[in-house]
Amino acid sequence: MKDILEAPFLVELVRTTANMYAHGWDERNGGNISLLLSEAEAAEYLDASNVLRTIPTGFHAPELEGRYVLVTGTGKYFKNVAYAPEVNLGVVRLRDEGGTAELLWGLTDGGSFTSEFPAHMMSHVARLKVDPAHRVVMHCHPSNLLAMTYVHDLDERAFTRTLWQMCTECIMVFPDGVNVLPWMLCGTNEIGEATAEKMRSARLVVWAQHGIYGAGRSLDETFGLIETAEKGAEIYMKIAHLPWKQTITDEQLHMIARRYGVTAREGYLELRGAQRAMTTIGG
Ligand SMILES: [Zn+2]
Repeated sequence: MKDILEAPFLVELVRTTANMYAHGWDERNGGNISLLLSEAEAAEYLDASNVLRTIPTGFHAPELEGRYVLVTGTGKYFKNVAYAPEVNLGVVRLRDEGGTAELLWGLTDGGSFTSEFPAHMMSHVARLKVDPAHRVVMHCHPSNLLAMTYVHDLDERAFTRTLWQMCTECIMVFPDGVNVLPWMLCGTNEIGEATAEKMRSARLVVWAQHGIYGAGRSLDETFGLIETAEKGAEIYMKIAHLPWKQTITDEQLHMIARRYGVTAREGYLELRGAQRAMTTIGG
């Protein structure tokens, strides 16, 4: 059995938590990450027959039966993960159609996985239906995205369009846009279900006055998604109160999408000149 502390997935998760903390996205015990592991990956480092504890999850997700998940612990500080991964992280396997988590490694102080486990697991289910290569769900509290939910309309199309206009790369990185949930009580199955529903059409879901959820195929991709959205929000918060002289136009957003081979969320951009003319003639 290889040492799990040297497993690439664990090393990368530890680095990611440290980096997120350094970005100021995870004050105190803010933020949580879950990463789906393949059975083969887990088998290299863990004895699957050695269940340390079982923890009830309080939700039902038959799609996740038998899945292995590396996850951050509840009440744990991202800033401390690198110093004691085995206390702050855990690997669980889901049983009883998602209702039970079998702890196979970590959470050595008797702790449990993140209180946002339902939102994470339901988001995994939603994203796996859209993208079989999906693996990561990440939640954190980036300051500018949070600030933006106080002063910007929470309409998803408007919110996304503003972020796309704030830096040229935004539409390349998240052409599927950003979905938005109004303020809801966190840690519940209700916000988990609402987040998962929003995850069907976008990899980023903002929780108003709280933070953001990101989903992706790797830790790097998911981190980069949140990083880019937060950069857009930072620009917005720097200029929202100033008179604007110009912005990135829809015509320019179309140019970026065409050049970089991405498809902007349907209906989020105004039609291009030629399309508009056709529509006018046709209609
Ligand atoms: Zn949070």
